[in-house]
Formats: sequence, C-alpha cells, structure tokens
Amino acid sequence: MKKSAKPKAPKNLDKHLFEAGLQCHKRLWLDYHEPIPEPVSASRQEMSRVGDEMRELARTAFPMGVAIEGDDAATAAEKTAELLAKNTPVLFDATFVHNGLEAQCDILVVHHNQETNEKQVDLFEIKSGTKVKHRYVNDLALQAIVLEQCGLKLKSADLLHINPKYSHVEGEPFPPMQLLRSADVTAKVEKQVPNVIRRLKHLRLAIENDSVLELPMGTFCKNPFPCPHSARCQKDAPQLPLHQLPELTRAQEIEMHKEGIEELTSVDGSREGLTFRQRRTLACMQQQERIVEPFVAEELLACERPLHFVAIASLTEPLPRFHLQRPWQLTPYAWAVKTVHEDGRVETTSWASVDRSDPRTQFVKTLARHIEIGGTMLCWRSEAIREMRTMLDSVPDGKTSVRALLGFEHVDMMQLLEAGVFDPKLLSYSDFRAVVAALLDDHSGDKLDALDANHRYEALQKARTPRVRAATRDKISAEIQEALSWQAHRLADLFEAFAPAGTEPVTAKGVAEEASAGASASDEQPAGASDDAANEASDTVIAKPARPKRAGKPRRPLPDAE
Ligand code: SF4
Repeated sequence: MKKSAKPKAPKNLDKHLFEAGLQCHKRLWLDYHEPIPEPVSASRQEMSRVGDEMRELARTAFPMGVAIEGDDAATAAEKTAELLAKNTPVLFDATFVHNGLEAQCDILVVHHNQETNEKQVDLFEIKSGTKVKHRYVNDLALQAIVLEQCGLKLKSADLLHINPKYSHVEGEPFPPMQLLRSADVTAKVEKQVPNVIRRLKHLRLAIENDSVLELPMGTFCKNPFPCPHSARCQKDAPQLPLHQLPELTRAQEIEMHKEGIEELTSVDGSREGLTFRQRRTLACMQQQERIVEPFVAEELLACERPLHFVAIASLTEPLPRFHLQRPWQLTPYAWAVKTVHEDGRVETTSWASVDRSDPRTQFVKTLARHIEIGGTMLCWRSEAIREMRTMLDSVPDGKTSVRALLGFEHVDMMQLLEAGVFDPKLLSYSDFRAVVAALLDDHSGDKLDALDANHRYEALQKARTPRVRAATRDKISAEIQEALSWQAHRLADLFEAFAPAGTEPVTAKGVAEEASAGASASDEQPAGASDDAANEASDTVIAKPARPKRAGKPRRPLPDAE
C-alpha cells in the first residue's frame, strides 16, 4: 500500500512573515502558502554584504560571544537552549521558537541571577540605516515577545546603527565604536509589545483566511519595499487602479476603498479633500487631454542663458570608501551637459570615472569648469546638486567648485513638470524614460540599458573589479556617458516642448488676464450646468498649485582656483 504523504509542518511566523503581514495581509498569505523567490539585484546583494560586514564589526565589541549555527531554526534553537543552560554570557544569532513564533537575535547578552535562577537579556539589533525606524522597533518587540515566552526577561533593547557623522580614513579598517552608534530603545520596544501581540493575532487569522486574496493593491505595495507579488496582483487590478492617483494619502485610500472606489475613473474630481494635483490629474483623465499650467512656460522662459541641461549619475553607499567620506554620502561619478548658448550654438560634453579611485574632486572640478560661463542649470531631480553641500567638508580640494555649483541657479525640471503638466498617459514622473515617451512620444531611451540605475550599478561593480581589462572599463564609461547625454538632450527637448523658441515669457499680468478670461468664459455655462460646477471651476482658479522654487543664486560661479 502506498504511504500517504506526510503533512507539512506549519511554518513559524518569523520576522520576514511578520514584516510581510505589516505591509499587506495578502502578501503574508502569499509568502506563507505560495512563496516566490525575490529578485536579487546587484544593489540588494551589496546591501546584504554590508549587513554581514556590519554584523562582523559589531561582534568584535563582544569578545565573549559564541555564534550559533544551524541548518534550520529548530536546530539553531536547540543549540541556543544548550548554550543558555551552560550560562554562556553572549550569543550571536541566538534563535528561539515557541508557539508558532520564531525570532533570531543579532546579539544577546545574558545576565544570570544565581539566587533566583532567572535570566535577563540585553538585546542588540544591527541595522545599516542611520536612525531609529518604527519597523526596527517592531522587529525588536517581536523578539522580546518570543524571548519572554521562552523564559527570558528583557532588560534592555538597543539598535546598533550607522553613525552618520563617522568620517572615514581611506585605507584604514572601520573602527566599530566610531562607525556604529547605539540607541537605547527599551522604552519604545516595551510600549510596542502589546500592539505587536495584537497584530500577531490578526496575522495568524489572515494566514488562514483565503478571502484576503481579494484585497486590492494600494500605496503600500511599494512601501517599505516593492512587493515581489506585484506582477501577480496587477493581473487582477483595474487598468487605472486608485493607488496611481498622485499624492494619495493612506487616509484617502482607506476612505475610498471603504466606499468601493477601486479605479481612478470612479473618483469624483469635486470630492472634498483632493489636492490641486489630484484634481488636475482627474480632469485630464476625464477629458483625455493634456493640461499645462501657464507657470511652466513662464518659469522656463525666465531662465538666464546659456542653458545647461545637466544629467548626473551618482551612488550612495552605506559604508564609505574614500577619505573623509561619511556613510550614505553621495558619490557622483559621471555627468553630461548639453549647453545652448545665447547665440544658438549647441555644445554637448560628458565625463565619467568608473574605476576604483575617488571621483568626487574631478567630478566637481570638471562640471564647475564646464558651466563657469554662467547661465542656468536645468536637471531632472536636483537632489544630486543639493546634496553636494555635504562635500564641502569631505572634499577639501574641491571646495571652491562645490560652492560654485551650489551657488549656480538651477531648475528642477521634474518638480516643475510634475507640478504643472498633466497628461492622461502619465501618472507618475518617477521614471524619466516613461516621461519622455509620454510627453515627447520619444521611445529612443528603451535601447539604453545604462539609463537604469541598477544596470549602472552592476556595470560599475564590473568596472571596479581589480583585473578588469581597460577596454571593458572604457566601454562601460562610454555606455554611461551615452545614457547621460541622451538624458541631457531629452531635457532640452522637454524645455523646447514647454517653452518653445520664439515664445515670450508669460508675465504675471498675462496670467492674471488669462485667469479672468477663464472666469468670464465659465460665466457662460452651458444649459444645465449646476452652480456647484461653477463653484468648482472658480475654486480651481483660487487653489493654485505650489510653484516649485528656483534654487541657487543667479550669480556667476566663482573661478575654479584650487
Ligand atoms: S502587490 Fe500589493 S496587494 Fe499584492 S500582495 Fe503585494 S502588497 Fe499585497
């Protein structure tokens, strides 16, 4: 007789499933019953390597520690129990399993009271971030709950995170006491324990409840991390799901879901509480027409010539590599600029450094030298320029150039277009290629892999391999510069599309006249139009969007005198 298959043992609710459940009950159900491997990008691999390095560093501060290894949680839990029975004072990766819950502790310091035979513990959790986050506290609260169930009382809970003020000495090993900072979160963890106990009850119910598979997608699908099940969920989602509405808050989302609103097309544009951008988006979707606010052309036409369309590639790595660099500090390594001079001459230049050397000084010097003729920088997201401020301390021989770049007037075209251009084919400005395809009907970027930050990261890793051939490195450099030059050219095309040559700047007077003309036009309502509709139109004129502010001062950059 054929033996019947042994029933699978139920899984424990561990940190991964707990976090999945906090993101979405459907994700928890899928991760529990139908898990799929998460895609491992080069940057994720690097984060995991950094995590391992930090764990090793933190362990050096606990020389008495004993590491626990086991092929599975049950074996590791058995070894942990054995070592605890022998009163081992410090354990690394101590594992506990109780009543369907599982916890692994990065570092556990055990205090054994000989008289009462009670054990109290100090918990240390290692994180590569630079500050305490709510989900880290939740994680420690889960550990404290399982430890308590296993007879260990929490004495203290600390987060060992990266010290953002640490300044690196190139070539030297990381000093753990300076790189890591300890934050006592005992009170926060104790406060969070009852909430986590309540949540665990709900999560256990969700695992058994197949109806959670009906839950709609939402803003949470990408927060705190992109969910690996999104391709599956998207198949059942409406074409224009509600969560694509810009500036959608969690409160709005919950309220609309309660009302059965799952699609953008079902949202009433006159609904109370919508932002200007949300109303404009809904209006352009309903009319299937692009809406462009007058201030977009006004802002672009007011730019002082020459115009420098700037594309920058940069990295932020958790652990610093270069002299005086701080953790998570920006490392720009390539740029491309298309310059349109006052007399119409066009110049395109690019620069990249892809080897292991420190690119920062050369980056700021070459870029500052290129634009020292004055004018305006136009870029896509200006964080890279704003964050150069942090280089004033860490790149002493490029200080003058950093100051010149920071003082240069610049326009963040993403911020400007996002605030003033509404197109039915474009609900998000996060992907530059998609923006270009929708607004310029230009799909030439599809062939350029180096426009993708993950691809660039992988290419850089390859270029920095010690024995890589010079030809391979040059090819990677050329590929990155080509992608950035494409971006600089498309920025210029977007400028031309929304502030075409020969157009006069829109004056404040012109905008006011246009608004009053719009108001008179709305007086001539078609028969049957309600007063509400008229009020809505006038509300829209009054509720003007926040116009993105120009950054930097309109002045000539300082000469590069380093
Ligand atoms: S994609 Fe969104 S709805 Fe689907 S499982 Fe993931 S988080 Fe839940």
